[in-house]
Amino acid sequence: MITRLKKILLSCLVILISAAVMNCDRNPSSGTEDFDIVILNGRVIDPESKLDAIRNVGIKEGSVIMITEKPINGRTTIDARGLVVAPGFIDMHQHGQDRENYTYKVLDGVTTVLELEMGTSDVDRWYSEREGNTFVNFGVSVGHVPLRMEIMHDPGGFAPVSDAVYRRASDLEIGMLKNGIEHGLNRGALGVGFGLMYTPAASRWEILEIFRIAGRTKAPCYVHMRYAGLKEPNNCIAALEEIISAAAITGAPLHVVHITSLGFSYTPYLLQMIKEAHSRAIDITVECYPYTATQTTIESAVYDEGWQESFGISFSDLQWAATGERLTAESFAQYRKTGGMVIAHSISEDIVKSTISDSIVIIASDGVLEGGKGHPRGTGTFARVLGKYVREEKLISLKEGLRKITLMPAQRLEKIATSFKNKGRICTGADADITIFDPEQIIDQATYEEPAKYSKGISYVLVNGKIVVNNGQLQDGVFPGKAVRGIIK
Ligand SMILES: [Zn+2]
Repeated sequence: MITRLKKILLSCLVILISAAVMNCDRNPSSGTEDFDIVILNGRVIDPESKLDAIRNVGIKEGSVIMITEKPINGRTTIDARGLVVAPGFIDMHQHGQDRENYTYKVLDGVTTVLELEMGTSDVDRWYSEREGNTFVNFGVSVGHVPLRMEIMHDPGGFAPVSDAVYRRASDLEIGMLKNGIEHGLNRGALGVGFGLMYTPAASRWEILEIFRIAGRTKAPCYVHMRYAGLKEPNNCIAALEEIISAAAITGAPLHVVHITSLGFSYTPYLLQMIKEAHSRAIDITVECYPYTATQTTIESAVYDEGWQESFGISFSDLQWAATGERLTAESFAQYRKTGGMVIAHSISEDIVKSTISDSIVIIASDGVLEGGKGHPRGTGTFARVLGKYVREEKLISLKEGLRKITLMPAQRLEKIATSFKNKGRICTGADADITIFDPEQIIDQATYEEPAKYSKGISYVLVNGKIVVNNGQLQDGVFPGKAVRGIIK
């Protein structure tokens, strides 16, 4: 008995020591370093330690080595007087994962760009395509939708359009899906992505089987729910019940994506359900984007029969992303045949505000831009939160706004990938992913008509200790972005 107690105490001690090692401030500096970069006289805000004070920051070999009131020197000096020095922003939900999209992201202050909702069917290929040629950090989940498309030979693009939407999977195909998910997780995927609304023929059992694979290793499931809107019986409440049940049954952590664009006026009910599930020990988190319109492909199952009643909107609430025109019954029918991105003005500003101000909600963009066309969320989400909702409307404090785009996403991800323990914070030992902005100027400029507009007020962005944005300008040929990946087995 005593030996057992000793063993337990010893293992507690080991856990405590390793926790201390993983925390910030683990390498207090002697102060005599020769820094690569120093950031001087900025207002340093760290949402974890709650530091909010004028400090100098010393950076060496990709890490923050010192945060101090004393003068320090380095080979490169950034004068941050009048500016906020914050942890680099982390976007958990970004579909556009190419040079065009990364440019807008970094000029919106984002240093880590993740595709977690849809994910990929080939984790190794996805990472290898970006290694060494990317200026932000990047990461991906293994996706149920792309795997289902591959297994069922669906010819769709971003979203499926044929068998992967409308056909039930055979037992053999469910087995193939499970193998594909397991393989992706073994290759360091950051969890499992689901777009249940895009695959309505995927049975509840199929989804539960995939959750079981995730539950074994506690890999988070990032879910676009099966239904949106208010119309019973297949509404957003039923959709959230399905995935909370799946999380409870299997033990898989759950992250609910873009809650406002599925909940509409029922979003407060969904947030209440999430809090209640959390209070019963379900590992559950949630995100939203700061806009009153959604966007997806018009040819997808989202716009199958009944969308008007489900979403509480009609044709004139739809806007064609390529031209900005509002749709009619005729143009809707025409575009549904050709395919493309459609914006739906379907969320009230009151719901956007109440959701952003809820302390459990992370902000993520759900962004994608193609040839300069798309939804402004892909280019302006982060500056919009800090400019419109923090400064102009005073909906939340600056520290709280930063917490939602730095610390909270890092905390969601740090169990699957320990590298996130060094992100989302600014403290000694943290990765030098740093966003420096003017709190009086920061604002989004992208609109539904002109989404391809850079945000204003992002002065400097550092990724792994390298300057990627210098005095508001993107630097050419600097690619310090690293893969963020779970354990490869
Ligand atoms: Zn989605």
